Amino acid sequence: MNKRKNHKSKNAGKKQHRSDKQNRKPHALEGHQKRSSAKGKANNASKHGGKAVTAEVTCSGLTSEGKGIAQWKGERLEIAHLMPGEKAEVLVSKKGQFVHAELKQVIESSKDRVAPPCPYYYECGGCQLQHMNQQAQTRFKQETVDVLMKPFGKPEPIMTMDHPYDYRNKSHTSFGLNQQRQVIGGLYAQNTHDIIPMDRCLIHDPKADEIVQTIKGMMKSFKMQPYNEDTGRGFLRHVLIKVGKVSGEIMVVLVAASSEFKGKNNFVKALRQAHPEITTILQNVNNRKTSMVLGEQEKVLFGKGTITDTLGGLKFEISAKSFYQINPVQTEKLYTKAIEMAELSGKETVVDAYCGIGTISLIASQKAGKVIGVELNKDAVRDAIRNSKRNGIKNARFYQGDAGKFMVDMAARGDKADVVIMDPPRTGSDEAFLSSVVKLKPKRVVYVSCNPETQARDLKYLVKNGYKVDGIQPVDMFPQTYHVESVVKLVRE
Ligand code: SAH
Repeated sequence: MNKRKNHKSKNAGKKQHRSDKQNRKPHALEGHQKRSSAKGKANNASKHGGKAVTAEVTCSGLTSEGKGIAQWKGERLEIAHLMPGEKAEVLVSKKGQFVHAELKQVIESSKDRVAPPCPYYYECGGCQLQHMNQQAQTRFKQETVDVLMKPFGKPEPIMTMDHPYDYRNKSHTSFGLNQQRQVIGGLYAQNTHDIIPMDRCLIHDPKADEIVQTIKGMMKSFKMQPYNEDTGRGFLRHVLIKVGKVSGEIMVVLVAASSEFKGKNNFVKALRQAHPEITTILQNVNNRKTSMVLGEQEKVLFGKGTITDTLGGLKFEISAKSFYQINPVQTEKLYTKAIEMAELSGKETVVDAYCGIGTISLIASQKAGKVIGVELNKDAVRDAIRNSKRNGIKNARFYQGDAGKFMVDMAARGDKADVVIMDPPRTGSDEAFLSSVVKLKPKRVVYVSCNPETQARDLKYLVKNGYKVDGIQPVDMFPQTYHVESVVKLVRE
């Protein structure tokens, strides 16, 4: 799960351009202290082991994760927060084959560099591009997709977001105690389980962050202890909030280390009083030593245990555990494009693989003969079935299972599919699935992906086996982060 987080600052949402003159001035990281950065540290120690040396480098490009690339003594360095064309001082440490480089000071900065609006940007790591202005972020994402898709065609210009903040409809917050034994809540610092206390993440829904603040305050008055990962003591591990951006419905999930919840009724009452906009509250029990947020057991403390939201003109029911796209504004654009690429006339049999709670399936079902959705997550499938009923849709069926195995079985039975829409997780699809697509011979395949690298790998297979790419549309679903979504249309040759 990606961590995305930040605080409010007076610069929030503002782009800050520097004059050319300013650009030449050496500066530390835009006034923000970088966590465990070289500042104030002896130059001969590194947390990555090995001896650290200072080097002056020039950035020649960006990695797919938005890190600056520079050459130094025959080594390729990858430096977070460094931009193309910039000259900088970096701290380099080597341990065995592994070379680590960290930005110490920018000597000549890019005209596209801005002060990150979030004061936690450099320690959090949930966002990686806040030091770039919006144009530079867009250019980076476009180039990433252009390069990966080069063997298949030229992608359309990326669909950007007008207000690239406040977009996440889902947030996770972890709780702990600081050295003064006060409750803190926030997001984990990059690659650690150290909580960065924060009251606002600029890409979260602002209401969700307000509710978390209230809960943090209530923990004190209710003497609710945060869970301690080391000792296994304490109660509250995380709070998960899901917001229906259109419906305004809000789900609060209190992830607790035990099922026993002392003072439960009063806590729920007080929380509802402070936030009457909350429509459901759940307790999820996670008593395992794990970095997974949610445990198996779930109890509804208030409301119906799910929220609904509207997407593509349909109503969707969403549970705590099922996947729902986190940026609904951009999802509308993505789905509209995917459905357009499917070229449905009203007669087709469509397979929607990796269908989640059936969003794409149900939107497609209105323009297709029938839709078959397949999804691994039981809760998501249950939601998908409920969602088809709720919307009065009769031509969609949902199956729980591995998409690859499902397709293999379909191909073995000699079933037919005219169009396959697929939207696998970041790891992409697998050969079982792709080879069955080839056997099923759908006229069109629409491949939605949140990781164009694995998408490019899978496209290679499909292109080798009788398909041609006939349209590539990148979408910026995750502004401020390096992640990029891409939807590709393939047609059978
Ligand atoms: N199309 C949906 C969900 C996409 S996310 C939407 O737009 O909302 C990817 C989905 O793939 C998740 O719901 C995940 O549970 C599911 N998934 C992961 N591995 C799977 C597999 N092997 N077979 C089927 N579904 C899988």
